[in-house]
Amino acid sequence: KLDTSIKEGETEILVNNANVFYNPVQEFNRDLGVAALTAFIKDIQEQKTERNTKKEDGITVLEALSATGLRSIRYAKEVKGIKQIVANDICAKAVESIKKNIQHNGVENLVKPSHEDATLLMYQSRKNKFDVIDLDPYGCPTIFLDGAVQCVSDGGLLMITATDMAVLAGNSPETCFLKYGAISLRSKACHEMALRILLQSIASHAGRYGRYIIPLLSISVDFYIRVFVKVFSSHIKCKENATKIGMVYQCTGCESINTQPLCYKKSTGGYKLTSSPYVDQLCKICQHKQHEGGPIWLGPLHDEYFVNNLLCNLDNIKLGTFKRMVGVLNVIREELNVPLYYALDRLMSIVRCVTPPMLIFRSALLNAGYRVSYSHACKTSIKTDAPNEVIWDIVRAW
Ligand code: SAM
Repeated sequence: KLDTSIKEGETEILVNNANVFYNPVQEFNRDLGVAALTAFIKDIQEQKTERNTKKEDGITVLEALSATGLRSIRYAKEVKGIKQIVANDICAKAVESIKKNIQHNGVENLVKPSHEDATLLMYQSRKNKFDVIDLDPYGCPTIFLDGAVQCVSDGGLLMITATDMAVLAGNSPETCFLKYGAISLRSKACHEMALRILLQSIASHAGRYGRYIIPLLSISVDFYIRVFVKVFSSHIKCKENATKIGMVYQCTGCESINTQPLCYKKSTGGYKLTSSPYVDQLCKICQHKQHEGGPIWLGPLHDEYFVNNLLCNLDNIKLGTFKRMVGVLNVIREELNVPLYYALDRLMSIVRCVTPPMLIFRSALLNAGYRVSYSHACKTSIKTDAPNEVIWDIVRAW
C-alpha cells in the first residue's frame, strides 16, 4: 500500500493505513505532551538541585507504546533539552513505521527505535532509569504501571493516558475494580472520578516501591483522560498515601457526594484509621441509602506552579491546538482543590425545577461565604467547598 504523509506540529509522518495506529483526533493529547515536557525541562533547568545536575546535558524519554513514532519525533523536534528518546512498540509493523519516520524526519541522533514488550523493557531499565515515560495504550494503562513506577528516575515524570472511559465512568464497576483496584460510580462527576481512580492506581503501584507521586496536571478531554505526575522516592512520604486516598459515598436519592480519606495524620505524628460516618448510614439530606465507591485519589489534581509555567510557555511553542489548550488550562488554573463536583442541570432535575443561570447559583454560594469554581471536565459543573446542606438550601430556595 502507498504511504500517506501526515503533518502534525513540525513533524511529517508516513502512514499506510491498516496495521499501525494513528489517530488524528489525539493531536491535542500529543500537543499537551509537547507543552508539558517543555515546562518540565524548564523547571529542571531553573531548579539546579543536586538531583538535577546530571540532567543538565539533557533528559531521557521513553515512549513505551509508540505506534508510528509520531509522538517521539515531535518531542525530538519541538522540545529542547532532550538527550535521547526511545520509541518502543511490540508490533513489528509499528517498529518498521517508527524507523521509517525517524529517517524521514532526520532525527536518528535523538530517537532510537525499540522492538520490545513495554513491560519487559521497563523492568530491564530499572537500573538505568528514564527521566520521562509516556504511556499511551489502547484502553487501560494499569498493566504497565508496575514497570513504569520502577523505571522512572527520582523526580521524573510519568505522562499516562487512559481511554477506557466507560469502565472508569461507572458502566462496569467490577471491571474497574479488576483493572484499577477501585469501584467506579455512575455520577455527573464521573470524568473527575476517572482521573482520581487512575491517580489512586499510580500512587498505589508507586507506594509498593517506596515511591510517591505529585500530580502536576490531570486532564479529561474528548474520550480519554491524561495525567502528568512526578515520582519521588521516600518511604516516609509514601505513608501519607493513606491520607490522600479515600472512599467516596454517593446518595442514591439526591446524589449528594461525600469523601473520606482512609487515614488521618495525627498532630502528634503517626496515623489514625478513619471510622467512617457514611458506611451503612442514610444520607443526611434525603435519608436514602448511599453507594460506596473508590478508593480514589483525594489529593490535588494539579500543581499550580506547573500549570502557570505551562501556560506562560505556550506562546513560545507552535501548537495546532493552541487555542483549545489555553482555554482548558485557564479553567484548570481556576479549579478549586476540592474533590469532585455537582452538575447544576442535574441538581435541578432531581428536584424537577428549571435550571437557574449558573451566575446566580454561583453568586448564592459566594454570598453564603463559600468558594466556587468550574471543573474543566464538565461545562455545567459546580465545584465548591460548601457543605451539601448549603447546596441543597440554595436549590430549595430557587
Ligand atoms: N502513542 C501513539 C500515538 O500518539 O500515536 C499511539 C499508541 S497506540 C494507542 C498503542 C500502541 O501500543 C500500539 O501501536 C500497540 O502495538 C502498542 N502495544 C500494545 N501492547 C504493547 C506492549 N505490551 N508493549 C509495547 N507496545 C505495545
